[in-house]
Amino acid sequence: MSIKRLPNDLGFYLPGTLPGSAQVSEEDGQERGTDMSSAVYVLVQGRRCGIVDTGMGIGVFRTLTQALHRLRVFPEWVLLTHDHYDHVANAGWFRDEMGVPIHCHEGDLPLIEQPLRVFDEDYMLRTHGVSLRQSFLEMNRSEDYYQEYIDRVLRDRFYPVRIDATSEDGDILEVGDLEVEILHTPGHSPGSLSVYIPRFGTLLAGDTPLWYGPGRPSPLGDFRAWVDSMERLLLLDTEFIGWGHSAPTLGRSRCRRFMNNTLRRAREIEDAIVEEIHHDPQTVDELAELIYGDNVRVLDEQREIGEDSVHSLLGGLRREGRAATVVGGDGVIRWCSGDDCEPLEG
Ligand SMILES: [Zn+2]
Repeated sequence: MSIKRLPNDLGFYLPGTLPGSAQVSEEDGQERGTDMSSAVYVLVQGRRCGIVDTGMGIGVFRTLTQALHRLRVFPEWVLLTHDHYDHVANAGWFRDEMGVPIHCHEGDLPLIEQPLRVFDEDYMLRTHGVSLRQSFLEMNRSEDYYQEYIDRVLRDRFYPVRIDATSEDGDILEVGDLEVEILHTPGHSPGSLSVYIPRFGTLLAGDTPLWYGPGRPSPLGDFRAWVDSMERLLLLDTEFIGWGHSAPTLGRSRCRRFMNNTLRRAREIEDAIVEEIHHDPQTVDELAELIYGDNVRVLDEQREIGEDSVHSLLGGLRREGRAATVVGGDGVIRWCSGDDCEPLEG
């Protein structure tokens, strides 16, 4: 785990890791291979800094605090790009041990402060129109799977953090005389934020540029909102895009190409899904295999992200009256397009 410098003397960052990379457990100090940490970006001006995302695990936290100590800089704020555990897990330490105020968008605040609300069916119906349990059913994930998911969240992903301030689209956070623009870029999650420093063409976009689409779990990921956010980010003049889990994208033409390619893929994915369900009713995993089959790694986790992205796209089509679900005699839920969606024969 090594610190890397940001261009233009803007500070430094700690690269993100993907599932399967080693993480040090805070309980037993042992390395585990199942979790991931987001990248952490530290914007430094003089003796002050602002931190974008906090990563996960004591190893990440120690590396960061040692670097801050060595440079003798103190964090004025932490901004969480979104509610996912691998981005917020260490935030509580910054708040409790260093007194740093934690910011996020109000759209993700409820799940950052109370991560288990994602399983509160009333809450999810009120805020997203569909519960997580219902979404899982529509992906033909079993009740056992749902219970295992709850266990997984409780065991590995439960990091409630108190939020001190909310940041909205258009807000400016300051680090010394550096102005940092906050953009609301929903899609990956309802309250996803990106950070833009126009003076240096620097964009820190969290997990928004995840090419699969919005990601997990559906219905918290919203494909339509995600495409709108990507289109907005594409209009920015960027020479550095830092994001949650991969190496940053450097250079104006590479940044533009990367964003264009991601959007083009998104449109292709939507067209392919619309066409497939027009021909024959399809399950979410059949569609995910068709769309992502060649690209996803063999990890179950990545398959799930693909399925979540497909489901959130179908949910958007359903809201527009362009898709519906049908239950076959085999009890399997398939998706078809609007009017010609007849119940299937057993
Ligand atoms: Zn995320």
